[in-house]
Amino acid sequence: MNKNTGNAFDEATHNSHALSVADVLRILNTSSRQGLTSTEAASRLKLVGPNILREYRDESSWMRFVRQWHQPLLYILNAAAFITLFLHEYVDASVIFGVVLVNVTLGYIQESKAVKALTALRQTLQVEARVVRDGGTERIAAHDLVPGDILFLEAGDKVSADVRLVESNEYRVNESSLTGESLPVEKDIQPVSREVGLADRTCMSYAGTLVSAGQAKAVVVATGDATEIGRISELVSQAEELETPLTRSISRFSQILLYIILGLGVAGFGAGVLRGEPMVEMLMAAIALAVGAIPEGLPAAVTVILAIGVSRMAKRKAVIRRLPAVETLGGTTVICTDKTGTLTVNQMTVSRIEVLDRQYELTGQGYEFEGEILHITGSKDNSIVSKERDYALFECLKAGALCNDATFVMQDNVQTLIGDPTEGALLVSAVKIGINIDELFLQCKRIDAIPFSSERQYMATLHECGDENIIYVKGAAERIIEFCTQALGSDNHVVCFDTATARATLSTLAEEGMRVLGFAYSHSSRERNVVEQSDLSELVFLGFQAMIDPPRKEAVHAVDACMKAGIRVVMITGDHAHTALAIAESFNIPNQKMATPTFGRVMTGEQLATLTDDEVEQACRSVSVFARVAPEQKLRLVRAFQHDHAIVAMTGDGVNDAPALKQADIGTAMGKTGTEAAKEAADMVLTDDNFATIEAAVEEGRAVFDNLIKFIVWNLPINLGEGLVVLCALFLGITLPMTPVQILWINMTTAGSLGIMLAFEPMESDIMERTPRDPQVSILSFDLVLRITVVGVLLLVVVFGLFFYERSLNASLEQARTVSVNVFVVVSSLYLLNCRSLRHPFWRQNVRGNLWIPFGIVLMMILQVLYTYLPVMNDLFKSSPLSWSSWLRIFMVSFTAMLLVELEKFIRAKFVPQT
Ligand code: ATP
Repeated sequence: MNKNTGNAFDEATHNSHALSVADVLRILNTSSRQGLTSTEAASRLKLVGPNILREYRDESSWMRFVRQWHQPLLYILNAAAFITLFLHEYVDASVIFGVVLVNVTLGYIQESKAVKALTALRQTLQVEARVVRDGGTERIAAHDLVPGDILFLEAGDKVSADVRLVESNEYRVNESSLTGESLPVEKDIQPVSREVGLADRTCMSYAGTLVSAGQAKAVVVATGDATEIGRISELVSQAEELETPLTRSISRFSQILLYIILGLGVAGFGAGVLRGEPMVEMLMAAIALAVGAIPEGLPAAVTVILAIGVSRMAKRKAVIRRLPAVETLGGTTVICTDKTGTLTVNQMTVSRIEVLDRQYELTGQGYEFEGEILHITGSKDNSIVSKERDYALFECLKAGALCNDATFVMQDNVQTLIGDPTEGALLVSAVKIGINIDELFLQCKRIDAIPFSSERQYMATLHECGDENIIYVKGAAERIIEFCTQALGSDNHVVCFDTATARATLSTLAEEGMRVLGFAYSHSSRERNVVEQSDLSELVFLGFQAMIDPPRKEAVHAVDACMKAGIRVVMITGDHAHTALAIAESFNIPNQKMATPTFGRVMTGEQLATLTDDEVEQACRSVSVFARVAPEQKLRLVRAFQHDHAIVAMTGDGVNDAPALKQADIGTAMGKTGTEAAKEAADMVLTDDNFATIEAAVEEGRAVFDNLIKFIVWNLPINLGEGLVVLCALFLGITLPMTPVQILWINMTTAGSLGIMLAFEPMESDIMERTPRDPQVSILSFDLVLRITVVGVLLLVVVFGLFFYERSLNASLEQARTVSVNVFVVVSSLYLLNCRSLRHPFWRQNVRGNLWIPFGIVLMMILQVLYTYLPVMNDLFKSSPLSWSSWLRIFMVSFTAMLLVELEKFIRAKFVPQT
């Protein structure tokens, strides 16, 4: 798409690192305050094209097609085709070649579909960028960025284009994807020498790298293919990983089976030849054995079933980034979730403010500016507040508005927040007292800031207000209390700060489930133009603003469903212990049945830091609420749960959550509020940030696995049956009841029109009442192996039984073989109905729940009628028309087999305890 060559931006694209900020802005004809106008941006977009890389180096379609040939079964089939060709069996040879071609094409189509589904999903996770356009801040899709756009970057963002920094504040970037350097690099705005390499261009940030700390404002100098990453094409490889642990183990299983079967085939061939049987016939029998008994199509079918599961999950707002995650999801035993936004709606509303000597109540909800601030205590006159009498309140609200990075903009006539919901709530509370935010920012210009981070738990800004400079600080209430020695009264007098009383007030507010932020300030000299951590002592306390963030209703049900499904829900939050516990209570989280509670109902990050690894593991067994946890402690918790054999799903959104997300079995990032860093590290992204979606994904994960097992339990007996039929014939020296070509017909048609329909089975209603699957235990339980064997042997018996019966009625070999093929297919069709549920009787399954099943069976029957009666099929497959009585026998025998499987289910349900 984008070349950015031969146009006015070339100089900026190649040499920005050596130019001053002013020069770069001038060359790009833009301004750091106003940005581009939307018309100019649109015309630049036309000129340079969208900000996307021309080519995802996905495996080419041809390569994928060629790869389909690389399967042991196809080698055998091709060899068989050549041998039959050599023996002048031209019809057989062309049928085998035809089958090979169909097989390869089917595999190719299935795999392409899976890849397409996954790629489409990846693209739904569109990256956004915060830019200045027409003088205001806007969020746009990253692919609409053009050279000259002014971009805001902060910790956790993925840089979407090559940019030259214009302003930077503790800005550090992880450039390992570009330079290989894994440590974050500090950046600033000073130009460097023209000759230096990428790694040393400290005033630049490059597309594809991740911001690990701080903030920056930057001007876009290159987009799309003109970016550095666009030029290094190997880095762009985004091929989808279609292998999963399950498909790997199935491939391994098929491989082992292949050797066993080849061994048996050679032995059977040798035995037959020694017995004096014709060599050609024996060879055909050995080939039939290989063709029939190897479940070669299984890994591909499993991949397709997983991919269908991925699409289903996406419809329920859980986007899977890595296919193996679908398998793991179903086995999840512990979900570690954060609180804000996942369990709660993340629509903060300040509802209480407490200053040194007064308490206030705020009316209004969400981000609506309508609402009042009323006295609760401390004022005789209970009417509306005023700046003169409520000085501390006013200053506290002012601090909240100034020490703030959020803004409200009108988008489609709706007031929309850009930024952190906590900060949005502080803007709203300030407006409620009549503060005009824009005017306030003009009066008190921001000179410097320490950005908020989850580790620090506070944010500080330095402002030039009239003839003095002021530092404002806001953050987790306990942190702010630690910084203060004095407090401001409502009458504008500063007094000594009583920290014990403040802590008691904080506890009371937090126990009501409110998120409490503390505010403080200090005067500073006019000369000071930076704010540093060391400045944050002996501050003046302004007050607390306490906000409510209601629990999500659907999350309450989802937590309940998880607990019923034997999954533990653990809350890990950065919030205050009391707030966390109060919110957790509304979800019943602290009351889950647990090991003897050695520790309290809630544990803080501070307590966690004092524990040994063994003690943390113990704590994980009994505590379900962890509060004031630093992101790096999340990693410790995941490890402790995993050490205790749990399969852990862990949510996260910040840049520092990435290691924990990587470590977890199902790293889950937030689609809306999550940083790009978290999304990159995650296996799954929730597009609605909602806990209920995790539960839905687990449910789907279980359903996918269920369908997978149903498919395997349906598929393996067919291979086993075919293998046994041929083996018996080989070793007993009797005529094959089915020729290799006929076995190929059975395999191809049943896999395409029957088995795969199980992928569309709806989930069984009791799916979330079962205990999680133990990944250590083999996917096929003893019961299921028994069923596979029983059905395989049943097939052997019915095929041989009917074959010889037909022969005894003087049927021709062609007719008897046609009966064998038909009985095989009809048993497989009816057995498909058995497999709709592995526990419950087939008649309890709603036919309309999966209309693909009757469709598949009808299709199969039509194919069988063609196979039996169409002359060309009779020539190709050596089949022969059958009489009504033969059909009657086929159906009677098949129904009996179906009922026997149901009888086995019934006996098991009655006499064997279910898990
Ligand atoms: P969760 O992990 O459940 O999402 P959280 O949002 O409370 O919880 P953090 O974002 O790590 O976790 O915040 C930790 C604490 O820092 C919060 O409880 C709050 O007191 C304070 N805080 C949150 N956002 C800001 C902010 N923008 N500025 C200053 N302090 C903040």
